[in-house]
Amino acid sequence: MTKWSYVQADDGSELLNSVLTNDSTSQCRIYFDYLPTGTIARITPNPDLGDLQYVWIRLSNSHTFSDSAQVGAYDLQSVILHELGHAYGVAHCHNDVNIVACGVGSCPYNVMSPVLSSNSQQRVLKNYDKDSYRSIYA
Ligand SMILES: [Zn+2]
Ligand SMILES: [Zn+2]
Repeated sequence: MTKWSYVQADDGSELLNSVLTNDSTSQCRIYFDYLPTGTIARITPNPDLGDLQYVWIRLSNSHTFSDSAQVGAYDLQSVILHELGHAYGVAHCHNDVNIVACGVGSCPYNVMSPVLSSNSQQRVLKNYDKDSYRSIYA
């Protein structure tokens, strides 16, 4: 969340300064769940509140996650950064997961690429990610 908050407007002004709350009133949850085959993670509004400010990030319990780019595991920070991008309203750089790379030059490395390989990290926001975020909040 800090990485998204660090994205500034073109004039250097701050856009959003979000924090993750971790108290008894927090409606944000990250947990493991059954997800369709091939899906690594999903983000949904809290169904009780119906508001994207309150998000549940569900991680597939049929995939392996790690805090580094271990072989056969998905990098947890990359996945959470991507899902939080959705919470902010940022779309994938392309939607068809069968496309290796869309027209955006940094496509395979965009945090908001629809494809994340295991054993790799996409922890750095690329121009596509930052420009999309700015276009929403600037
Ligand atoms: Zn793309
Ligand atoms: Zn996504």
